[in-house]
Amino acid sequence: MGFLELEHIHHSYYSSTQAKEVLRDINLTIQEGEFVSFIGPSGCGKTTLLSIIAGLFPSTEGKVFIDKEEISPHNQSLIGYMLQQDYLFPWKTIEENVTIGLKIIERNKKSHKVTANALLQEIGLPHVGSYYPRELSGGMRQRVALARTLAVNPKILLLDEPFSALDYQSKLKLEDLVVETLKAYHKTAILVTHDIGEAIAMSERVFLFSANPGTLHRVFEIPTELQ
Ligand code: ADP
Ligand code: ADP
Repeated sequence: MGFLELEHIHHSYYSSTQAKEVLRDINLTIQEGEFVSFIGPSGCGKTTLLSIIAGLFPSTEGKVFIDKEEISPHNQSLIGYMLQQDYLFPWKTIEENVTIGLKIIERNKKSHKVTANALLQEIGLPHVGSYYPRELSGGMRQRVALARTLAVNPKILLLDEPFSALDYQSKLKLEDLVVETLKAYHKTAILVTHDIGEAIAMSERVFLFSANPGTLHRVFEIPTELQ
């Protein structure tokens, strides 16, 4: 069994008058530490599938396993998110933003500082701990968002278009940083993007969603010997 296992996932949204089928028989195995991408047009079901993986709601049919545990709204795994916006709290310092999730799950504050410093070092921003978000560029803030996500040691990272608000140079830099950092921490990640160049540059495998209703097709795989 892989680290993330999707077995025969089907999903339909129901309203009083009709059912809309969004996902049809999605099967996927992702190994621990692997980086894969999902690409596909808007409305093809990417967010629906990420939400099912996160256990936000159950799929109509099928099973999700993360690290051998079956995921459901009653048994969610620790998931890290990176989204298009950084959602840093403007009135908190960078260090406070990085440790915000840690404060919720454990109270030993000494270790929080150590974790924050190590992560800020890892993302190449060792000196910004006492700064406020408005003092950093968009690319720097997304790096802080990555650090905040890693601070809670999630099992899987779901990256939903995290580069789309950045200029091209910042985007390329952040892509490299994300790949290197996730490798260093041996994290499993799924990137959702519209950009095939970004997907191929970053991932070991790329899956294309077809719409009406969504099914997954593997379109690209780096041979293992090149990874
Ligand atoms: P993507 O993330 O690829 O843009 P989504 O998963 O958001 O796609 O949506 C897939 C389809 O399901 C779309 O047609 C969308 O309109 C529909 N959909 C999404 N959420 C709901 C919902 N809560 N109720 C009904 N239909 C929905
Ligand atoms: P050039 O032909 O200007 O040297 P590249 O060979 O670097 O450009 O890339 C060609 C195209 O491939 C770029 O315009 C870009 O759209 C895409 N591309 C290359 N690398 C990446 C990447 N890391 N992320 C996203 N897109 C990329």
